[in-house]
Amino acid sequence: MKCDDGENFTNGELQRFGNIELSPCAGVLNYGQGLLEGLKAYKTEDGNILLFRPGENGMRLRLGAERMCMASPSVDQFVKAVKDTVLANEKWIPPPGKGSLYIRPLLMGSGSMLSLAPGLEYTFLIYVTPVGNYFKDGLSPIDLMVETETHRATPGGTGCVKTIGNYAAVMKAQRAAKAKGYSDVLYLDSVHKKYLEEVSSCNLFIVKGNVISTPATEGTILPGITRKSIIALARGLKFQVEEQRLTVDELLDADEVFVTGTAVVLSPVGSITYFGKRISYGTSGVGAVTQQLYTALTRLQMGLAEDSMDWIVKLK
Ligand code: PMP
Repeated sequence: MKCDDGENFTNGELQRFGNIELSPCAGVLNYGQGLLEGLKAYKTEDGNILLFRPGENGMRLRLGAERMCMASPSVDQFVKAVKDTVLANEKWIPPPGKGSLYIRPLLMGSGSMLSLAPGLEYTFLIYVTPVGNYFKDGLSPIDLMVETETHRATPGGTGCVKTIGNYAAVMKAQRAAKAKGYSDVLYLDSVHKKYLEEVSSCNLFIVKGNVISTPATEGTILPGITRKSIIALARGLKFQVEEQRLTVDELLDADEVFVTGTAVVLSPVGSITYFGKRISYGTSGVGAVTQQLYTALTRLQMGLAEDSMDWIVKLK
């Protein structure tokens, strides 16, 4: 799908997967003018295909486009393009319970843009790939390391939008943590260097009794769609949910910790290491609240629970 007047996208077309042509002067190549999204399609036992809140991804893309000075497809154009792409790739969707089709929308500045001024030409495309269940044998706890030197986002920066450059910037810290045996890093805010933010590609939650807390977004955290959904589901299950500033002290005192995101869905955190000190949660791995919320979310996403909040889009 293309925009060549700096404002409007014409409806796109389906093409076989392959390389695309770009001007060497494209905004995305020279200045990182690009955004990504991520969502999943699930097949059901009765042969339907389900999307989970695709309009939310469309809206997040539009907010990101505004921040990155790009034109973006309307939410309706976005959702239609996702539906058309998924239906055209139906044969790649894993059977129920075996995984999902990962959908990757990309929006980029594709026109020539040698000087640093927003161009008029933008390209929106979607590609898909089947993915297995993130955890083969049910939920599996991850080990996080609190990153104290590198920061993911700064106030006024682009941490709250899904721009491509955010991800290149976290690879180094993530690679170093993985080399030490951790699953990923947990970032702190860049000003006070003490408030918890998020993991490289997921949001953080802390459980203490009946209270579930998550860092307030405050412009430096990506507002995850899974995060937003878990907040609503948890409130529906009568938990008290707080969006607030949280520090490592709250981690020390937590009953359970988990992370959320399209890829991981909802994953228990087994331990967190801060300046070499390891905090572990539970002995058997998955806390009761984490398990309850995981079940509520995944049953909904797979069409096994009543969709009382109208989050599911059926493709057939
Ligand atoms: N934070 C970051 C930095 C991410 O890349 C993602 C994945 N999109 C998330 C959080 C979780 O967002 P969502 O639940 O929308 O996948």
